[in-house]
Amino acid sequence: MPKRYIVAIDAGTTSVRTVLYDVKTGALLRAFGSKISQSYPHIGWVDQDAQEIWERISENLQKTLDNISPEEIFGLGITNQRETVVMWDKQTGKPLGPAICWQCKRTEKECLKIYKNEEKRNLIQQKTGLIVNSYFSASKIKWLLDNNYDSIKLFKQNRLCCGTLDSYLVFMLTNGKHFVTEPSNASRTMLYNIHTGVWDDDLLNMFGIPKSILPEVVDSNSYIGDASINGKEIKIGGILGDQQASLMGQACFDEGNIKNTYGTGSFLLLNIGCKPTVNNNTKMLTTVAWRLNGKTTYALEGSVFNAGSCVSWLKNQAGLISNAGETQDLSLSVNNTMGVRFVPAFSGLGAPFWNDSVRAGFYNITLGATKAHLVRSVLESITYSVKAITDQMKKDSKIEITDVRVDGGMTVNQFFVQYQSDVLDKQIIVAKESESTSVGAAFVCGLTFGAFKDFDDLRRMYKIGKVYKPSKNKVNAQVEYTQWYKLVKNLDNKQKD
Ligand code: ADP
Repeated sequence: MPKRYIVAIDAGTTSVRTVLYDVKTGALLRAFGSKISQSYPHIGWVDQDAQEIWERISENLQKTLDNISPEEIFGLGITNQRETVVMWDKQTGKPLGPAICWQCKRTEKECLKIYKNEEKRNLIQQKTGLIVNSYFSASKIKWLLDNNYDSIKLFKQNRLCCGTLDSYLVFMLTNGKHFVTEPSNASRTMLYNIHTGVWDDDLLNMFGIPKSILPEVVDSNSYIGDASINGKEIKIGGILGDQQASLMGQACFDEGNIKNTYGTGSFLLLNIGCKPTVNNNTKMLTTVAWRLNGKTTYALEGSVFNAGSCVSWLKNQAGLISNAGETQDLSLSVNNTMGVRFVPAFSGLGAPFWNDSVRAGFYNITLGATKAHLVRSVLESITYSVKAITDQMKKDSKIEITDVRVDGGMTVNQFFVQYQSDVLDKQIIVAKESESTSVGAAFVCGLTFGAFKDFDDLRRMYKIGKVYKPSKNKVNAQVEYTQWYKLVKNLDNKQKD
């Protein structure tokens, strides 16, 4: 029977999905998903249950493989929420304590202490490309080590495993035979040296984490081992963290290619080629995009913490709209915001400002301003936040950004994407397949098992949905951006004074 399919696992933050990707047509044929829970035991803490994540994935995998013979399948690829850590017993696979989610701030104090030490802060940034923050895995791993009674006992028995979610899933899929991760995930731990491609001894010492509990780091396109799913043996090959998977799914293979996912938050990754740009003055993250056959490609990353969540807020909390789609009609019903400006800082400002203290607000409202002006100002503010990031990326990398490839829930909003194109003065390409993350996992797996020969093969599989070009409104949009940036910079400076 000829091989035709790739199975992909997408282990997200609020849901997990498994999909069947058709190598011939490039379509996602079947998708099964389940919501997964989060708990908030204290203010700022976000816990998940690794066992629950595994069980939901396992159930969905069985459904995805129903009536499909293993001979028809090239292999299985994995993409996952990044930075989240799991600790477990090598003998039983049983998690020790919660999976600590990337959103969790329980180690904020410890990280702030390190951040304030300039020498340590610079060393970490030089080695990892990251800005010290509780968001990344290192301090979460240390917390799990210190707060699990069994961790020391198991460590002494050489039975302690700890890693990002991908390493736990591989371990469970292979019945404990393989304990590995790959560089796009490892580069989010703050323990991995992105220049040398290994766990870094200085950083392990700084955080007090023994190397032996961490997974082996293999290429992103490695054949890792075989998963046994309901009696079916499927080869596992191909892992990428979710944002890097979406970079691959959007076929951003060349230096200067950039993708942006507009979901709850907005995540931009710029392919910067095979040399990492790490500069202690920057507020951008440098990260590994992927390591294929030993060759590492890097990306600059910037995120807007609140994008689609601002639209959800307009609906659920402010009650200004009854569904997200209304924001398009309302925005188009007026020519501008009548000077109203919105700062989307519900959880502080992300890159390039990184200011936790600023909060969201409408500014410059006059009596003539209507609901439509307020709503439009919210959508515009997200496009401005993205522009602030791309400007900084250009400055840091000296790389000219080509067109921008986008996906995520907000990209159905035509006003929004057109305005983004005007603000950036760039062509914007909306992917036909909105699940770029799953596509990326299928792509990397396809490279591992020969379903695709090279990037050219993958470029052919990539399907464009819609293209937006800068319109005659671009001059206005850019003037508005300058005004908005001034406002945000003032708020930023005021908080930092
Ligand atoms: P995530 O994967 O982070 O859950 P999605 O990619 O599913 O996010 O996108 C959902 C987000 O997109 C929601 O926050 C929602 O408010 C926003 N959204 C959905 N439809 C629209 C629309 N037509 N216009 C603007 N925003 C939208």
